[in-house]
Amino acid sequence: MIYRKSEEEIEVMRESCRIVSDVHRLLMPHVKPGTRISDLDAMAEDFIRANGAEPAFKGYSSGSTSIASFPATLCVSVDDEVVHGIPSNRLLERGQIVSIDVGTEKNGFFGDGAITLPVDSVDSEKLRLMNVTREALFRGIDKAQPGNHLGAVSAAIQEHVESNGFSVVRDLVGHGIGRKLHEEPAVPNFGKPGNGPVLEVGMTIAIEPMVNYGTFRVRVDANGWTVRTRDGSPSAHFEHTVYISKDGPVLLTNHFDRENG
Ligand code: MG
Repeated sequence: MIYRKSEEEIEVMRESCRIVSDVHRLLMPHVKPGTRISDLDAMAEDFIRANGAEPAFKGYSSGSTSIASFPATLCVSVDDEVVHGIPSNRLLERGQIVSIDVGTEKNGFFGDGAITLPVDSVDSEKLRLMNVTREALFRGIDKAQPGNHLGAVSAAIQEHVESNGFSVVRDLVGHGIGRKLHEEPAVPNFGKPGNGPVLEVGMTIAIEPMVNYGTFRVRVDANGWTVRTRDGSPSAHFEHTVYISKDGPVLLTNHFDRENG
């Protein structure tokens, strides 16, 4: 069941999403060599709670009884970590690329967004990987028009990524979002333009390309959460929560735009 939101509900979601983007703005200057990842997490949690919201990932259950619920506010994924990195006392190092994924809930509605940032200077191929991933997200967003099939979003992302020589992760996908963090429909980053549900006004989806430098194949760490590239190559991840309005896609999260990655 795909839930379409009223304009009033969209306004409530805007607030959750505003907090997501403000967390990214808060953390950006701290993404530098020597920063402790757990300190980023603490800053994010304090900010979210001070804004009357809850961290959406903390305590999130994978659904498997053998895996502990997610222990932190942020997913921080470094280099070959694709998504769901667990913040630890590890320090950021120059040359790494770091995905910061933030989820919030306020007044019963969720927001979700991610950005990948360089730690100081990074090599040109990592920069290209980040740029192509961000561009792919916006190629997808441009197709999030009422009347299009969802596959148009997926196909636009895949085409941009693969034409640049990178690969899209298959095992993880974007998602509908609203009263739950993860709602229908699944939003793959690969597919055909005519496939999937037709996008309708009021749908809200989290579009989140996860792009690997090498193989699309991934594996999961023993902690049950952290997803890594199988070949150890770097991976980038960008995400916006997007509202399908009658006039086209509207970013509810706004922590960066196509010009200001
Ligand atoms: Mg998401």
